[in-house]
Amino acid sequence: MAILEGKVALVTGGAAGIGAATARALAEEGAAVLVADVQDERGAALVRELIEAGARAAYQRCDVTDDAAVAAMVERAVGAFGRLDVAFNNAGIEGEPAPTADCTEENWDRTLAVNLTGVWRCMRHEIPRMLEAGGGSIINCASVAGLVGFPNICAYVAAKHGLVGLTRTAALDYAAAGIRVNAVCPGVIETEMIERFTHGDPDAVAGLVASEPVGRMGRPEEVAGAVVWLASDHASFVTGQAIAVDGGFVAR
Ligand code: NDP
Repeated sequence: MAILEGKVALVTGGAAGIGAATARALAEEGAAVLVADVQDERGAALVRELIEAGARAAYQRCDVTDDAAVAAMVERAVGAFGRLDVAFNNAGIEGEPAPTADCTEENWDRTLAVNLTGVWRCMRHEIPRMLEAGGGSIINCASVAGLVGFPNICAYVAAKHGLVGLTRTAALDYAAAGIRVNAVCPGVIETEMIERFTHGDPDAVAGLVASEPVGRMGRPEEVAGAVVWLASDHASFVTGQAIAVDGGFVAR
């Protein structure tokens, strides 16, 4: 039986990578899904695919750094499907790699704006709608870089560590109101973000694979599985957690 039947979900950064895999997985489990992204053509194509497969789905352009766009995204979900039960705040960027003292102010500001402030902004608009619905489940996409440090990506690591703290605090703020707030912390997942990060350099790819105890990169679907579980009532007593989906990366 589909475990999200009757639920309404939104996914930011939902047109590609982990977000797209999660939109598919949420729909397969019966949720109506609003796909939000800045990649309009890909988002619209994904929504067509979901609808053809029998799901209820819609696409909404939303840059998570734009407060009006975030407000419009939440209203579109409620307008199209009647309520909001699940939000996967996933949109993120890797930023420009450089040692800490060489990180530009522009890179710092942009990375924090998307990866940390963008998620807070999404929650700010999602939570009132979930309170109206009597509860909900928010899943924020952090990273293993929210749990341990990495060289050369200080803004990304700071944003993702901040996101873990934000997740815990929001969980405490709304626990009694029935809104669960958790984070997933993916390890190295085979998406375009990793292609950009490694520039397709085989040695860089091999280095990332070697960093994973299971000896391979993860697939976007493997993160989606954790998000679906957190979204569902199977995780009804789970809140404030930062769950690594990382092939053992942070277990070392
Ligand atoms: P992708 O780059 O493959 O997909 C991200 C999607 O989000 C793209 O469509 C992207 O559009 C979109 N996006 C970027 N900025 C914004 C914005 N401001 N507003 C709305 N949408 C935006 O990334 P992944 O699927 O790999 O990553 C998804 C999340 O997972 C991110 O938060 C990332 O930090 C996290 N993560 C990824 C890991 C990995 O190994 N892949 C590991 C750990 C965490 P565009 O392409 O135009 O930028």
